[in-house]
Amino acid sequence: MKAKKIAVLGSTGSIGTQTLDVIRMHSDRFKVQSVAARSNLELISKQIKEFVPEKAFIYDKDLACVLRARFPDIFVLSGEDGLCMLAQDREVDIVVNAIVGASGLIPSLCAVRAGKRLCTANKESLVMAGEILMSLAGQTGTKIIPIDSEHSALLQAMLSGSHSEISRLILTASGGPFFGKDVDYDTLKPEQALNHPNWSMGPKISIDSATMMNKALEVIEAHWLFDIPPEKIDVVIHPQSIIHSIVEFVDGSQIAQMSIPDMKLPVQYALTYPERLESTINALNLEELEELTFYPADRETFPALGLAFKALEIGGTAPAILNAADEIAVNAFLNGKIRFSEITSLVQECMNSIKITHRISLEDILDADRTARDWMVEGIKEQAR
Ligand code: NAD
Ligand code: MG
Repeated sequence: MKAKKIAVLGSTGSIGTQTLDVIRMHSDRFKVQSVAARSNLELISKQIKEFVPEKAFIYDKDLACVLRARFPDIFVLSGEDGLCMLAQDREVDIVVNAIVGASGLIPSLCAVRAGKRLCTANKESLVMAGEILMSLAGQTGTKIIPIDSEHSALLQAMLSGSHSEISRLILTASGGPFFGKDVDYDTLKPEQALNHPNWSMGPKISIDSATMMNKALEVIEAHWLFDIPPEKIDVVIHPQSIIHSIVEFVDGSQIAQMSIPDMKLPVQYALTYPERLESTINALNLEELEELTFYPADRETFPALGLAFKALEIGGTAPAILNAADEIAVNAFLNGKIRFSEITSLVQECMNSIKITHRISLEDILDADRTARDWMVEGIKEQAR
């Protein structure tokens, strides 16, 4: 079998490096065609040495010059269009989008437009432009496969019935580092919020997990990926992160997917879907599991969740505004500019303040993204005065 060529976008991050681990394990099946990172020159250099891709991308132009000097045989790209070129590369079979944030949107669109299989960890692109991405995938006949563990679980559980037989999607949420704890959200430090109990992830998603904004984005992601209306999507807190999500069918059956929490599993499933391959992940030892517990995730206790459902209800550019506002708020919190408790309230204020456009084009989405970012930057400055 000819090895499938993969573009690994965001190769130096948590999901990117785990994708390379999976490719390393199945080097007879997969070959790295390209790697892409924002600024981690040393790690991307190490990856180029090991995987010998044809192309590489680093956002910063000066760093790209250094990379070219180090690897004269490799085609090195940089700047705004480089990621799209990697995603559309004729040689590429699969694009893994492991970029964090709204920067993942254009590469996702380019991959789908070019008819590539898109394995996406980048939920932000689906939150911002789910309708456009899914309809484009329909037109080009390509598949968008989620890497997010909850959505991977849903995809797997869905194989048990037809779309019309689904009565509910139940997304599980760990609840983050503070669930059930008595914490002062006003004095909380970034280090405390970055410390996730079950997963080791990049800084943005770690903070989003602590505020539950991650689950909010995942509700929107699930809505678009699986074409399920918001009223049929629920969230339940499950602190052990063993059950990754559940599909409920009209006969009352609930099909769940379970495993130890390890992102290499959903990464590999996305690459091999609908097949399965051996992996390095040990199956659960059920006798050693002490307990699986579940708690309600109501929208009053977790206002971020409420914002996701509100954004879906409003529609149009509302989810893109939510996404952009959150990105700025998380950065501001990590840089000590706002308190933890202000992340969600500022996002909410931003959503309430910016005019929503309906029947949207990509331009409208990018516009809303920019407007929300500007609004947030101003809002945060004002608060500091
Ligand atoms: P991370 O911060 O560890 O890595 C982000 C990667 O994106 C890095 O390689 C960085 O260089 C790259 N990047 C950022 N901006 C870029 C740009 N403009 N051009 C090129 N590369 C750029 O983040 P992560 O935790 O790996 O998360 C990545 C995505 O996967 C996010 O959307 C996140 O929500 C999703 N996700 C992550 C996990 C996890 O366990 N880490 C689980 C589920 C979903
Ligand atoms: Mg997830």
